[in-house]
Amino acid sequence: MTAKGFDVCVSGSGAVAMSLALALSAQGWRVAWARPESAVAAPRVDVRTYALNARAVALLERLRVWPALQPHATPVWDMVIRGDDGGQLAFSAWQQQVRELTWIVDAAALERLLGEALRFAAGVQGVPPVSSPADAPAPLLAVCEGKHSATRGALGVSFERQDYGHMGVAARLRASVPHQGVARQWFRSPDVLALLPFHDPELGASYGLVWSVPTARAEALLALDDAAFEAELMSALAQSDPEGAQAVGELSLASARAAWPLALAQAERWSGPGWVLLGDAAHQVHPLAGQGLNLGLADVDTLVAELGHARKTFPWRSPADARTLDRYVRRRMWPTRAMAGLTDGLLHLFADDRGPVRELRNTGMSLVQRLGPVKHWLVGRALDA
Ligand SMILES: Cc1cc2nc3c(=O)[nH]c(=O)nc-3n(C[C@H](O)[C@H](O)[C@H](O)COP(=O)(O)OP(=O)(O)OC[C@H]3O[C@@H](n4cnc5c(N)ncnc54)[C@H](O)[C@@H]3O)c2cc1C
Repeated sequence: MTAKGFDVCVSGSGAVAMSLALALSAQGWRVAWARPESAVAAPRVDVRTYALNARAVALLERLRVWPALQPHATPVWDMVIRGDDGGQLAFSAWQQQVRELTWIVDAAALERLLGEALRFAAGVQGVPPVSSPADAPAPLLAVCEGKHSATRGALGVSFERQDYGHMGVAARLRASVPHQGVARQWFRSPDVLALLPFHDPELGASYGLVWSVPTARAEALLALDDAAFEAELMSALAQSDPEGAQAVGELSLASARAAWPLALAQAERWSGPGWVLLGDAAHQVHPLAGQGLNLGLADVDTLVAELGHARKTFPWRSPADARTLDRYVRRRMWPTRAMAGLTDGLLHLFADDRGPVRELRNTGMSLVQRLGPVKHWLVGRALDA
């Protein structure tokens, strides 16, 4: 234990902060978990489902959260992505020789179960919120406060943010036709619409909806009553892909709707004396590839591995040693930039409505569809963000 009482102070109350506190505790570090009391009293209500990749699931397995979460998760066997002019990409777990392409999990259940696991984690103690490394009861302050992190601001780290002018509208849906483990996504220019197969409330016939639309349209969609919203959704599907609309059947709302503003953002620095950033506090990507939390959990995995490696090799070093934090930043910067570039590039490609661009992007999709190794590479990147 350090002179400050703890080894690492984790600030934040989302999935990244809780996974980090658990992973550090499993390695025997003494952890101060700084979060507002409200976060403990009332777990967040969240209608979202998250697509979690193989690396994220492996981390949750090691944290012993996955067995409790699995009943709230649905495996995806196939994925069909449609362009706006006949382009199509299809992935299957069988062809890619993986057990499943991804898991769809209940966002609220994930946070609740991480919180429950933390109640029994050795060496983790709740402390009041902190706002700077000097306030933290540990030599290292791990800032996992999400995209609006005040501590990041107080550290003078700028968060370069490019607003997409879109919102992600999310809800749970019931379907009249079983989903058979197929995730579907439509690039409709300017919308991106995704249906993620789920088992709740209707076993084998529910979806998590993520519909990215310009902000004014998102507000209008939220203001509609349920029947009118369902009609808009069905008409959007029927217009862009009558065959796909038939495959999903009639969709009806099974939850409230909520919407999140979408942006691409990156903190200018990810570490400094006595502090390090993880998750959305460090980077924010568009949810079209379902990778934001996957990137955050990969940050957790990498930081904990680097701290463990440093403790074994240089036991006299502080957890806040700049060389350890630099290694973490070097390992995470490239995959995060690559994912941000990919989602941003796709979005811009599909935002351009000129005829030749539309033709090119749809031809490109169909070309990738025929190139087995390229598809395999894309799936590999998505499974291991
Ligand atoms: C519509 C939509 C769909 C998405 N789908 C997917 C998906 O399918 N797959 C995927 O991987 N990702 C997805 N994401 C991204 C994912 O939601 C985020 O990347 C993830 O929630 C980030 O987790 P986090 O813990 O870093 O931040 P947050 O979830 O924002 O959590 C941070 C928490 O810390 C709290 N906090 C703030 N300041 C302090 C402080 N000073 N002290 C203590 N606590 C503080 C905040 O209130 C917040 O509760 C989606 C996002 C959206 C908007």
